[in-house]
Order: sequence, then structure tokens, then C-alpha cells
Amino acid sequence: MQPKIVVLGGGIGGISMAYELRQTIGRAADITLLSDMPDFHFVPSNPWVAVKWREPEDIKIALAPVLRKFGIGFDDAGARRLIPAENAIELSDGRRLSYDYLVIATGPALAFDEVEGLGPERNSISICHVDHAAKAARRWEEFCQNPGPIVVGAVQGASCFGPAYEFAMLVNADLRRRRIRHRVPITFVTSEPYIGHLGLGGVGDTKGLLESAMRDRDMKWVTNAKVDRIGPDSVAITELADDGNVRRQLDIKSALTMFIPAFKGVGCLLDEEGKGIAGLANPRGFVLVDKFQRNPAYPNVFAVGVCIAIPPYEATPVPVGVPKTGYMIEPMVSATAANIKALMAGEEPRREATWNAVCLADFGDSGVAFIARPQIPPRNVNWAGEGYWVHVAKVAFEKYFLRKVRKGSNEPGYERIIMKMLGIAKLYPETKTPPAAAA
Ligand SMILES: Cc1cc2nc3c(=O)[nH]c(=O)nc-3n(C[C@H](O)[C@H](O)[C@H](O)COP(=O)(O)OP(=O)(O)OC[C@H]3O[C@@H](n4cnc5c(N)ncnc54)[C@H](O)[C@@H]3O)c2cc1C
Repeated sequence: MQPKIVVLGGGIGGISMAYELRQTIGRAADITLLSDMPDFHFVPSNPWVAVKWREPEDIKIALAPVLRKFGIGFDDAGARRLIPAENAIELSDGRRLSYDYLVIATGPALAFDEVEGLGPERNSISICHVDHAAKAARRWEEFCQNPGPIVVGAVQGASCFGPAYEFAMLVNADLRRRRIRHRVPITFVTSEPYIGHLGLGGVGDTKGLLESAMRDRDMKWVTNAKVDRIGPDSVAITELADDGNVRRQLDIKSALTMFIPAFKGVGCLLDEEGKGIAGLANPRGFVLVDKFQRNPAYPNVFAVGVCIAIPPYEATPVPVGVPKTGYMIEPMVSATAANIKALMAGEEPRREATWNAVCLADFGDSGVAFIARPQIPPRNVNWAGEGYWVHVAKVAFEKYFLRKVRKGSNEPGYERIIMKMLGIAKLYPETKTPPAAAA
């Protein structure tokens, strides 16, 4: 019997993983992708959906037919609970799925409940899920009929700041197109210690570039901010000083509010007390992995994407997390496929992902891009740039990734060439000696 590999999650990490496994391992294993919804959706386009520059259907692809073409099984029942000690997953419909190897790619659960009034069921809109973005788009149309002040940002514990900047800038661009920007004061509120920190200590001059972009667009900002409460027409925040003491408390009027929430692990990674399953995940439910993307307690379990545990880069007055960007996920995927192949051949895993961060934040009329190699300072490449070309590149990235999902290729030739030109490799050179012996 062939080994069974289950990829859990059908987002950027999960779909890339399923394809890369098929390419790396060929037909030597049964591969099944288990999601909790029938479609792939391209999360980076959600901000465009929220301002109606895209329809939700533009960024969705039904998974069953495309995966069938590549002999990859698909199930959208969703996982209710992982039972790693028994190599099994309990599905939401009560069935049980067993595996020889499991790759977890479940992305984040959105911790709206950690701030009073936060989230699309309460007083703020969200862009983290395509359905939230579709709901936000309806709200956006109403808002534009009767505009007022806007507050956008990222709350305490957030680890994904690029989309908050992106949304603030897109809102600005769309309001200008509609000729109503003069009726809308915009305030950016962030847990970051300074604009452009991004959970990464900044990249190149992201501080200068983003502050300047906000000044150019008449936006105010508050940093080191802890959101206390989001009401129907205001946001209450506490701003901390660099030493952690309270600097001031503010109540900002807001007719439309969007905050990126903190993330945690999804339900199937948690135990009965709501903590991460012992050995598999940290208390917040993020999957523990070693440098080979492998869980130390369950060595046939790997994880890629936003669901993995990464410690914060530095202590900050208000907590912020390290982001996991799309191009950081791809190296995790490549390393995992190579390491599962090694395990199937009776060898030890050897491949390590480089975890470089490449990010494009679209402003509608311009944008900021950065490359952090490696992601955490000090870096060999620490670059940020701005221009209309970023908007064009982001549209190209969307088209390219959706094509990649339809065509089943995890790294078309041109991606390889561009990344080589930028000097960005997905994996560190292979170690000749198995790591255990090398120690
Ligand atoms: C609004 C937004 C914009 C972003 N823009 C960019 C960008 O421009 N560039 C960039 O590099 N990064 C961006 N990111 C960061 C990152 O690339 C994305 O968050 C990316 O989608 C993460 O991929 P993932 O596979 O880890 O998680 P996801 O894409 O969230 O996928 C997780 C999948 O797991 C499924 N799932 C969850 N629970 C279960 C379960 N119990 N059973 C089965 N399946 C389950 C979900 O339905 C989903 O399909 C952005 C993030 C956000 C939130």
C-alpha cells in the first residue's frame, strides 16, 4: 500500500503544498487535500474585494476539479480535531481520516473576541476572509453614500500589518476617485512601535516610506496603541509611551472601522480547554516546528504558513507578532516536500527553508514593496521601494498565483528566473551529513 499524505487546509500554503508534493514525490504516495470549504481563495486580494475593485468570484477557484486533474484527492468536510498520537483526523461530519504523513496548513483563526466590539459580527469590518471582504464591500457602498471619519489599523498582538496599510491607502484612492475624500478624515491606529515596523523591526526604510505616504495622503496615525473598545461610531484606544506607561487615552470618532485582529490556531489544533494540543501546538494553538518544518513531538507531522509558531522579533510596548508572508510560505512548502520525500526513502530530513520575506503592499495609485533576506535583522538584503510599479506587480502576482492554482504548477520557470535574479533562494544548500549526525 502507498503511504497516505494528508494536506490540511486549502489556502496559499495548502494548495502549494499539495502541488509541490505531487511534483517532488510523483505517484509514490496518495495525496489528499482536506479543507473546510470547496474553494481556494486568494487572500491578498481581499482588500480589493472590500472596496469593490474585485468581486469575490474573481479570486475563487473550485478545488475539486483542479485537484482531480493532478490525481490529488479532495474533501471539504473540514477537521474537527487532530489526534496525532493515532495518526488520525476526526472530520466535522464525524468521519475519521488516517494518514502516514500530515502537513498542517490551516492558516489563522481570527481572535475578534479579544477586543470588545471587534469583528464583522460586531462594530468593525474585516478583510481577513473573502466572505468578510464581501460583507465589507456592501458596507463600503453604504458608507460612500453617507461618508464620515474612518479608523483603520491592527490591534495588539496582530502579526499582519501590510494589509492594514494597504486597506487604508486603497480607501484613500477609492475616495479620491469618487471625489469625496475631503469628507473623510482617516486615522491609522497600530500596535507597532512606529509606522513601518511591520512586526519585523522595519525593512529598509519602510518607516520613512510609509510615514511619507501617509503625510502625502492626509492621514493621521497613532502608534503603540492598544485598542480598548470599538463602538458603533467610535474607537477607544490607549497609547503607550516607549517605556510601557500610558501616554494618553483617546476616543476617535469613526463611521467605518477596520482592524486586523490578532491570530491564533484554528479549533482542530486546540484541546478541550482551548489550548494548543500538547506537543503539537503552543498554548495559542500555533503548530510547533523545527527548522525542517517538522513537529518535534510527532515526527510525521509538518506545518507551513500562518499556522506555525514563530516567536516575536523583539519586545515592544504593545505586543506585535512576526508576519508570515506569501513568499515566506513557499520555501516552507519546498522544504517540507523534500523532507517528506527523504523520510519516505528512510532518510532523515535535511532541507531548511530560507524564510525570506518579499511583500507588495498596493496603494491603488502607488505601493510599497520590500525584500527582507533573511526575514529577521541583521539582514543581507534589507530593501524597500515605492512606486506605481508596485500596484502593477501586485495585480500580476494575483493573476500569476490564480493561474498557478489552475495549472497545478508550484513554481513556473519565470518565477524561478525572477527569484534567481533577486538572489532569493527558497532553500538553504543541502547539508551532506544528516542533521542528527552533524550535531
Ligand atoms: C487580508 C490579507 C492580505 C494579505 N496580503 C498578503 C500579500 O499581499 N502578500 C503576502 O505575501 N502575504 C499576504 N498576506 C499574508 C499571507 O500570505 C496570507 O495570510 C496567506 O493566505 C496565508 O496562507 P495560509 O495557507 O497559511 O493560510 P490561509 O490562506 O488562511 O489558508 C488556510 C486554509 O485552511 C482552511 N482551514 C482552516 N481550518 C480548517 C479545518 N479545521 N479543516 C480544514 N481546513 C481548514 C481554510 O479554509 C483555508 O483554506 C495577507 C494576509 C491577509 C489576512
